[in-house]
Amino acid sequence: MIRKSGGEADWDEETLDLENRIMETGYTPEDQEVENPLRPRTFSEYIGQDKVKENLQIFIEAAKSRKESLDHVLLYGPPGLGKTTLAGIVANELGVNLRITSGPAVEKPGDLAALLTNLSPGDVLFIDEVHRLPRTVEEILYPAMEDFALDIITGKGQMAASYHLPLPHFTLVGATTRAGQLSAPLRDRFGVVLRLELYDPRELSKIVMRSARILGIEMEADAALEIASRSRGTPRIANRLLKRVRDFAQVMSEGVVTLQTARIALDRLEIDELGLDQSDRRMLSAMIKHYGGGPVGLETLAAAIGEEAVTIEDVNEPYLMQIGFLTRTPRGRCVTASAYLHLGLPVPGRLREDGGSPEQIRWEEP
Ligand code: ADP
Repeated sequence: MIRKSGGEADWDEETLDLENRIMETGYTPEDQEVENPLRPRTFSEYIGQDKVKENLQIFIEAAKSRKESLDHVLLYGPPGLGKTTLAGIVANELGVNLRITSGPAVEKPGDLAALLTNLSPGDVLFIDEVHRLPRTVEEILYPAMEDFALDIITGKGQMAASYHLPLPHFTLVGATTRAGQLSAPLRDRFGVVLRLELYDPRELSKIVMRSARILGIEMEADAALEIASRSRGTPRIANRLLKRVRDFAQVMSEGVVTLQTARIALDRLEIDELGLDQSDRRMLSAMIKHYGGGPVGLETLAAAIGEEAVTIEDVNEPYLMQIGFLTRTPRGRCVTASAYLHLGLPVPGRLREDGGSPEQIRWEEP
């Protein structure tokens, strides 16, 4: 995620930088050291997403009892919700190896062929950002997923020869932030499609407590809930905020994370009580100030706040919509009355009367 500072002059660049790194939902090198011990290895350690867990457990059980490989699984939802973690758990529960790669990393059909031919029977191949696989690679993935075979053509013209290479039966776990961008033939080849939801603060506070225990941080329950409610429904952010709050606790309250320390730390990081960061507030303010609260098109909005459209769609929007601050209409994004109230601005008449414009629809990813 790239957060750029916009045209407004009253920005504290340094604070913005620090805060952006913290609220980044994508994977950053900092996560590597902290996440490894924090990453759940079994379903029982994996908190929340009950529906997804229950379904996966049943499919795994069934595949195991039939002694077959698990059907291919597509996981979708915003970044940082635990898709990679789930792939690891699936491999762990099946007792097989996990191989990890990502759509943009598999550049040529040969790269995928090398990965596939090195799998052992039953292995799980995890492809993150599966919607970003190049088309040529996707095409050799179809027979691999469906018939467990690679069809390779070598040479040209009269010298052309085609080979049919059998592969071990494997399970592809694909992850994407946007199921809608997956090509239909690829989507159809996933037998199991599961959507991950943003976590509620209660679940996130359990994750924070668990992480604190693993990292040896003394933590009061109400402080965990405070961190959880400001983590915009995302475990990756919750874990990162926990680390920052721990730093404050070491200096301010002898290492114990109390509610007061958590509040002070999070305020200092400019993450408000609903988990909105500067970028969210800037986006909402721009919509209100320049477009009368909307509707505003995505590209226009992105240009207005100097943000990438994909960041707005993947990071800002899912959370702002979940807390009811933003709606998507056929004509663009609209700010709701609650967002005006949260920003301390007067609610316009049209929103006060009917609670929103008549064309508001709930956004569902296809
Ligand atoms: P994604 O692949 O969706 O971007 P990850 O699987 O990398 O997200 O999860 C980010 C981090 O959040 C993990 O390292 C893990 O520590 C934590 N995490 C995610 N989901 C859970 C969960 N359900 N319970 C506990 N921790 C979780």
